[in-house]
Amino acid sequence: MNVYGIIGWPVSHSLSPAMHNAAFKALGVKALYGLFPTPPEALKEAVSGLRALGIRGVSVTIPHKEKILPLLDELDEVALRIGAVNTVVNREGRLYGANTDWLGVYQALSERISLKGKVVVVVGAGGAARAAIFALKEAGAEVLIYNRTLERAEKLARAFGARAFPLEAISRAEGDVLLQTTSVGLKEDRSPVPEEVLSRFKVVMDMVYQPLETRLLREARQAGCETIDGLTMLVYQGGEQFRLWTGLEPPLDLMRQAAEKELEEQKDGKF
Ligand code: NAP
Repeated sequence: MNVYGIIGWPVSHSLSPAMHNAAFKALGVKALYGLFPTPPEALKEAVSGLRALGIRGVSVTIPHKEKILPLLDELDEVALRIGAVNTVVNREGRLYGANTDWLGVYQALSERISLKGKVVVVVGAGGAARAAIFALKEAGAEVLIYNRTLERAEKLARAFGARAFPLEAISRAEGDVLLQTTSVGLKEDRSPVPEEVLSRFKVVMDMVYQPLETRLLREARQAGCETIDGLTMLVYQGGEQFRLWTGLEPPLDLMRQAAEKELEEQKDGKF
């Protein structure tokens, strides 16, 4: 039985076990995916533990995505350029770090709109925004970053060839796509974007998936925009992890169903 899991802090509400275990079961892969809660001070030991115990692969989440880089044996070129790893593959004892978050963003958006030459407004400048901006620039989009802390947006803009603005200027923003990458709206009925701005965009995507339809997405739908929820990205990035670990085609529909079911159960307090 091969063992996979997720390292992060906290990880108890992760949808990844439901998603990956459903995929393993459906394809008859003899593997299990579990939770490895890892406090920041234990990251180094946890990574040694992956080698020692022969854990075949892990997802990496907040707050370890950047700190794990120097602890790995080999890095994918894209993970290095983004500066974050969300996937580790154990290749006969050597730990290989990759990033599938950017592919999650790319696939979620590009199945709805061709990004080449489009103007994309990114709200937020944290780790998730970094992977998203890499994807958007790869796809040939023009990127405008709006963030509460302007310096953080400016740093990202310099790294990826984008433009930076303070979050207060969002009321004047316009473009083809609006991509929300902050944690605002997570388990709360708040949006970082004023409602009247939304009709200026064709497509609005939120990385937050709890609730599935955030206030931003509800208001965007009411304004006539096409909307993409955060679970779409989560499933695509998880699918790419599954492909890296098993070499198999990920059963994406089934992974989405499992993640949605888990989300519902957590909401109902059965968890
Ligand atoms: P992070 O590195 O901590 O960045 C957080 C971002 O949110 C920063 O831009 C921060 O602005 C902004 N922010 C936080 N509170 C705010 C507030 N009250 N008002 C305005 N801006 C605020 O976190 P992250 O890793 O980028 O993750 C961000 C969100 O994306 C999380 O909710 C995470 O769950 C979600 N996510 C989803 C997926 C998916 O697959 N759907 C993947 C990755 C992440 P400052 O710079 O000013 O602090």
